[in-house]
Amino acid sequence: MENFTLEDATNLYGIDGWGAGYFGIGNDGNLVVKPTREDSLKIDIKAAVDSLVAKNLPTPLLLRFPQVLESQVNDLCTSFARAITEFGYNGRFRPVFPIKVNQTASVVSELLRTGYKYGLGLEAGSKPELLAAIALNASPDSIITCNGFKDRDYFRTAFRAAQLGRKIVVVIEKPFELAHYIALAKEHAVRPHVGFRVRLHARGSGKWEKSGGFTSKFGLNTSQLLEGISELRAAGLLDQLKMFHFHLGSQITEIRRIKTAVKEAARIYAKARKMGVEIQYLNVGGGLGIDYDGSKTSSDASVNYTLQEYANDVVYNIKDVCNNENVPEPDIVSESGRALVAYHAMLVVDVLAEMGGTNGNTGPKSKTTPSEPNPKVIDELLYIDGNMTVKNFRELYHDAVEQRDELFSLFNIGLISLEQRAFGENLFWRIAQKAVRHAKTQKYVADEFQDLEEVLHEKFVCNFSVFQSIPDHWALDQLFPVVPVHRLFERPTRRGTLVDITCDSDGEIDKFVDLKDIKKALELHPFQAGQPYYLALLLIGAYQDVMGDLHNLFGTANEAHLIVGENGRVHTQMVRRGNVIRETVSVFGYDPASLVKQVEAMAEARVKEGALKEKEGKLIVQEYRAAFDAYTYLT
Ligand code: PLP
Repeated sequence: MENFTLEDATNLYGIDGWGAGYFGIGNDGNLVVKPTREDSLKIDIKAAVDSLVAKNLPTPLLLRFPQVLESQVNDLCTSFARAITEFGYNGRFRPVFPIKVNQTASVVSELLRTGYKYGLGLEAGSKPELLAAIALNASPDSIITCNGFKDRDYFRTAFRAAQLGRKIVVVIEKPFELAHYIALAKEHAVRPHVGFRVRLHARGSGKWEKSGGFTSKFGLNTSQLLEGISELRAAGLLDQLKMFHFHLGSQITEIRRIKTAVKEAARIYAKARKMGVEIQYLNVGGGLGIDYDGSKTSSDASVNYTLQEYANDVVYNIKDVCNNENVPEPDIVSESGRALVAYHAMLVVDVLAEMGGTNGNTGPKSKTTPSEPNPKVIDELLYIDGNMTVKNFRELYHDAVEQRDELFSLFNIGLISLEQRAFGENLFWRIAQKAVRHAKTQKYVADEFQDLEEVLHEKFVCNFSVFQSIPDHWALDQLFPVVPVHRLFERPTRRGTLVDITCDSDGEIDKFVDLKDIKKALELHPFQAGQPYYLALLLIGAYQDVMGDLHNLFGTANEAHLIVGENGRVHTQMVRRGNVIRETVSVFGYDPASLVKQVEAMAEARVKEGALKEKEGKLIVQEYRAAFDAYTYLT
């Protein structure tokens, strides 16, 4: 077999395409993370996992790289700074992180710490998020934007934040919200600023396209915007209206859509300025996308623009409209979430088993047939198996399908034994594999054999829950890169999907990133029982962390934060244990202590009946009690 090089592995998994400079393969064939993008500062993921597992922090393991957050904040802010300088823009860039994209306290604090010098603020979309945002240690110059539907309490909390000195803007999403603001403003001298979320005619592109446009759930249409201005003017509060905001939806795949929206929003801003409304901030929302498949196209898993191009287009188009309308240039607020956090987290899972396609039916286990003489149907299948060639594979495969159907019919009327059925079934799948192998040598592979190949993929059983760790793959078919953590110098000779350990057939990763297409199976290495085989699910730092659920009561994964020092040494900055069973059962109203009592009573009763010895009864209770403190995943 030809050599398989690290370059081959890099190309096969597309690492340079989607990795944004953060990922690579070390000389020993292990996946590495370069959190500062410097080649000399690497984290060897296999070594890190081995060391964490040895410290009793088993997989599935969520690894976070705080330095990646820092790099992304720097990239965003310096890209806007460059655009502002290049176009001579007379306003500031005011970044804001929407907490909902990843509410994890350590992630938000790291973003605020590293974004302090850029005045990074927070966006809250609910009362709980606002309560957190108010108290967190952000730069005093930073802004808190309040989106989402609001009741009087939400507004009251925003007023309190303003009294505490926070620069806070409550964005009116629906006309009825304004009455709450006006009522509270009458009672308070210190008030938060007001923003209007405008409903643009422009729409986004990609999976979240319906967040924008006229039919979107959010924002004020043009007449509601004008009515809002009149209401504030009538209440003597127009000077509080400081922000116009729009959000086209997350992961905008086409730059053209962003330009169109920015131009429209800038025009609305300019017209309002001309009406005497002193808007200070134009908030362009989120939507800055991630190239998950590395194709640099407008496919749902990619974006056809770079961060710098995004910043240039936002800055240039706002300036252009402002110059044209002869109004001052506003400060630009962006609520980019995905772009800041997607790269910083990966989940490492261990493979538990490899199942051949069609659940292990890859050929008869025994060479001899279970009965002599064979039923005719088995003789036919044996003949096909022994005589299939590249010239006749199509015809013989069709014959095999017919014989397989005959096998089941004969079984159903009682003429075939269980052993004969098993032998025939296995024989059929071996024939199918041969047919696919022959089909793939042809110039054009017929659809029938392409479909058959899908059915024959291996399934790698992995210790995780799709619903907890990458719910968007299940809910939205979103693609995430998957790469083996080690053995990358070895040619992967299997193609398979990843099935999780939930009792749900949707718990499977069966779509994989590819430059030109979506792969239905991933190239993987043969699983060797007794040897760990780790896979990394990457770019899962945005939304996945916080949207995961407790399907089958599988909880959060063990977590470690890894950083690399200037001397190249890797440090574990923090570990957080994943949920234990006690925690996940409690969420749904079970009280572990009462459950233990119940089991104690059952054991006592069995001892009384004489069905159990006292010692055995005690042991059962002891084990049952201790089980609640175990990790929810397989160990
Ligand atoms: N701002 C608002 C109002 C949003 O609803 C969202 C998410 O959809 C964001 C910002 C963050 O978007 P993204 O993660 O695409 O940057």
